[in-house]
Amino acid sequence: MKHYSAFAVAREAMTYHEGWERAWDNPEPSNHYDVIVVGAGGHGLATAYYLGKNFGIKNVAIIEKGWLGGGNTGRNTTIIRSNYLQDPSAAIYEKARSLYEDLSQDMNYNVMFSPRGVMMLAQTHHEVRGYQRTAHANALQGVKTEFIGPKRVKELCPIIELKGPRYPVMGALWQERGGTARHDAVAWGYARACSAMGMHVIQNCEVTGVHSSNNQVSGVEITRGKITCDKLAIVVAGHSGVLAEMSGFRLPVESVALQALVSEPIKPCMDVVVMANTVHGYMSQSDKGEMVIGGGADGYNNYTQRGSFHHIEETVRALIETFPMISRLKMLRQWGGIVDMTGDRSPIISKTPLGNCFINCGWGTGGFKAIPGSGWAMAELMAKGHSALADAFTLDRFKEGRFIDESVAAGVAH
Ligand SMILES: Cc1cc2nc3c(=O)[nH]c(=O)nc-3n(C[C@H](O)[C@H](O)[C@H](O)COP(=O)(O)OP(=O)(O)OC[C@H]3O[C@@H](n4cnc5c(N)ncnc54)[C@H](O)[C@@H]3O)c2cc1C
Repeated sequence: MKHYSAFAVAREAMTYHEGWERAWDNPEPSNHYDVIVVGAGGHGLATAYYLGKNFGIKNVAIIEKGWLGGGNTGRNTTIIRSNYLQDPSAAIYEKARSLYEDLSQDMNYNVMFSPRGVMMLAQTHHEVRGYQRTAHANALQGVKTEFIGPKRVKELCPIIELKGPRYPVMGALWQERGGTARHDAVAWGYARACSAMGMHVIQNCEVTGVHSSNNQVSGVEITRGKITCDKLAIVVAGHSGVLAEMSGFRLPVESVALQALVSEPIKPCMDVVVMANTVHGYMSQSDKGEMVIGGGADGYNNYTQRGSFHHIEETVRALIETFPMISRLKMLRQWGGIVDMTGDRSPIISKTPLGNCFINCGWGTGGFKAIPGSGWAMAELMAKGHSALADAFTLDRFKEGRFIDESVAAGVAH
């Protein structure tokens, strides 16, 4: 793999940019792999990357039914933060956030990590108390956040209307090193690095069945035949229930569509990420100038990977209370992704009833920020049978009533 650098750009400029090689190979599947990862979203690709990088396991295939990053990884609103309440969540999200800090250098691929700061507005007394509690918890967890007052909110984001018609802004939970990254670049960067290690990233190839006997997976049926493996990782977000059913077990996960939209591009007017959970919406401005706006999830389970008009209306109507200036914006496009929701709004990174089959899912509305940490933990779990970062997130917790309740942190704010 050729190293990307300023010198490489200058060199290629001399030769009409004809020397760039493909970022990743397009191989045919082999008959056998040490590890098969189902799903080339961020979490599947990161799992493969850290298997190779941290444990030297490189005979790996990542099988994707569509195009890589075409699931939720390429459909989210790119918010990265680690200001969760419970200790296991803060640990894995902060690990991910800290890996994002130098992910571009690590992978030699610019993921455009932009730690511009994330604020979660407190617009009721209940939210003020809740976020103050989170700020105290974060201090104990070593996650740098603070509760700020309305004056500082206005300084950081002048387009906010503090005295909205229904909900005044009473303060905010502020994480200065939270921010955004370019979502599809995260998938592309991991894919390129996996391919450079000799792994097979196989697109347009669906897993249609899982073969097992004596509680061990032997391989998978794919649209191009059958391949065998020593270990299987299921990392398919909204389709986790489908893959689990193929494997013969059930998951406590529901699939719903979550939507987002962007406006026409406008001049820079907002250089932080703002989430307003009470009115139910959140917004940031992309480097292209579009206002990136996220709303809520559908209230019923479905696999409809597209947007709908009533969500635009609801989300924009709610946000206008806090950002009156967006009432004059034209909306450019909208879309939806199928997210995998658990009852406690925390992920599952776990062994399964099949001895050599592992699952990583349940990231719901907020897993983009977790990609590097989740891949790190999943790779360790698969290589060593245990990962301190993943220990709390086992499937057993639903049987044992050991919930990691993050409904407040994950309610709307991603
Ligand atoms: C609108 C929206 C906004 C969001 N905003 C944020 C945000 O701001 N911040 C944040 O942290 N998170 C956000 N999220 C959540 C985040 O996008 C997801 O949690 C995360 O991307 C999940 O990544 P993944 O790799 O697990 O899944 P995916 O990226 O969905 O990858 C799973 C892959 O598995 C493939 N697959 C499925 N079935 C099969 C099969 N049978 N065979 C082969 N391949 C298969 C799919 O095609 C897909 O590519 C948002 C999500 C949405 C939809």
